[in-house]
Amino acid sequence: MSTAQGRGTHAKAILGPELYAKLADTHVLLVGAGGIGCELLKNIVLTGFGKITLLDLDTIDLSNLNRQFLFRKKDVKQSKALVAAQTASAFNPNVKILPIHDNIKEPQYDIPWFQQFDLVLNALDNLDARRHVNRMCMAGNVPLVESGTAGYLGQVQPLLKDKTECFDCIPKPTPKTFPVCTIRSTPSQPIHCIVWSKTYLMGQLFGEDEDATGELDAAEKEGENAQEIAALRKEATAFKIVRDALRSKNSEDAAGIGLPEGGIVSASVSYEILIFFVPGIRR
Ligand SMILES: [Zn+2]
Repeated sequence: MSTAQGRGTHAKAILGPELYAKLADTHVLLVGAGGIGCELLKNIVLTGFGKITLLDLDTIDLSNLNRQFLFRKKDVKQSKALVAAQTASAFNPNVKILPIHDNIKEPQYDIPWFQQFDLVLNALDNLDARRHVNRMCMAGNVPLVESGTAGYLGQVQPLLKDKTECFDCIPKPTPKTFPVCTIRSTPSQPIHCIVWSKTYLMGQLFGEDEDATGELDAAEKEGENAQEIAALRKEATAFKIVRDALRSKNSEDAAGIGLPEGGIVSASVSYEILIFFVPGIRR
């Protein structure tokens, strides 16, 4: 059997011909093109869904590549939604994927906007956005399939207004940890910066000396993203300057040290150090 003939065979056998026939005209919104989103997008494209809107606000980070398999090294820093749509479109000639590089919480994504979809799939990494999509789907009476991860565990839950409980019916515990990519690259709440400084910056400034040069050299030899490595190297140098300044007996010696692109840092003013290092601010 050729690929074209065989393409829908299994989905048709599972769903039945009637339901399968509806897939081509079913308009799906997939929110999130990360770890869950890449997997889900591949699955719905191969199943035969014909119209997919894919929304994600994030850009691709080198650290995503071990699991977010729709992305390659050359895609680092590009929009997740755009690249994922491009990659997955090739899996099925009958699919149309509309990528949107944006935040689902923007006001233009209002209730009527949600109502254009037959089905919404959540593939998000934060409670705030998951709860927002839940509220919009409940208000607009749009079926939502909610999925998420906690450590190594995954959850999935179908939500339909007045038929099932909603995502918020059972209160969720506030997470005590955050994904490294959120903390490092896309902090959106004050707590992200506090967690980052407590778990990372604190160790860098007051912990044991750690020489990352060897690690970075090795990564460079293996052909890792040169720009990313240059940024890490710059960061390591800056950390070393601040560390030395903090440990200097005479704070006068340490005052007025020039840092790359960060201006002048006085060793006694840790606030300025924070401004320089807190991710997001320095971008
Ligand atoms: Zn509820």
